[in-house]
Amino acid sequence: GEALAVSARVAPLGSRLVLLLVDDLTESRRIEAVRRDFVANVSHELKTPVGALSLLSEAVMDACDDPEAVQRFAGRMQAEATRLTSLVQEIIDLSRVQNDDPLEDSEPVAVDDLVTEALERCRQQAATKQITIATGATPGLYIWGSRSQLAAALGNLVENAVNYSPARTRVGIAGRAVSAAGGDLVEISVTDQGIGISEKDRDRIFERFYRVDPARSRATGGTGLGLSIVKHVAASHGGEVTVWSAEGQGSTFTLRLPRASAERGGRDGRGGRG
Ligand code: ADP
Repeated sequence: GEALAVSARVAPLGSRLVLLLVDDLTESRRIEAVRRDFVANVSHELKTPVGALSLLSEAVMDACDDPEAVQRFAGRMQAEATRLTSLVQEIIDLSRVQNDDPLEDSEPVAVDDLVTEALERCRQQAATKQITIATGATPGLYIWGSRSQLAAALGNLVENAVNYSPARTRVGIAGRAVSAAGGDLVEISVTDQGIGISEKDRDRIFERFYRVDPARSRATGGTGLGLSIVKHVAASHGGEVTVWSAEGQGSTFTLRLPRASAERGGRDGRGGRG
């Protein structure tokens, strides 16, 4: 409708311009639709724990002469509140990585520091499940990027590896330098022996709020936002994230990001900055 009207108005200017304008319109419509979906999804996701909290608080009031029931409901309220907190935190993280230009606070970030931070983030959960995390990054590797964004990305991958693995399995984090046509890269991979991801889900897991098994994901405090944060961070740094997986055997997520040399304080292969 509208696109056609526009193209009819500008048709005399030449078909290439028409195509550009129509493309532009389609793209802005797409962005608008994605934004609308996101707001709808956020509202839905927030309403679930808030609704549960409201029902549980009524249950507590009705059960005030039964201390055991009160205890039980209070425990579930706490779980819902925790879920709500992590959801809000991830929504904030996602909007932050989408709005902040990583180039504005880019610096050489040590891969070792990122790995340490990621381990810190899931230490408790790994210990509870007796999951061993083995790290083996080439020493002295640096990535050119935003420290907080890179930490959020790797942290999410390691957290998922632990969450979607059975007890007493192993998770591996490896880091190495690789050369590519566009410049030197750092490749960080996170490997688990977990449940794996079917081929049909593999493309979709990077979508916002997409979860293969919402019930399982909810039980581990999952929001469905983690991998969309990872994907956004990789892309905005000029890198990528890929996944290999075999159902029932495990998964490997690989981040490829621009390498920096700490001494020059700049990006390798691009002559640095400043
Ligand atoms: P969530 O908060 O649910 O973990 P993510 O965006 O991080 O959300 O991941 C999306 C979905 O991808 C998860 O719900 C899970 O089903 C699947 N997934 C992510 N990482 C793994 C993994 N290492 N092994 C198996 N499944 C995974």
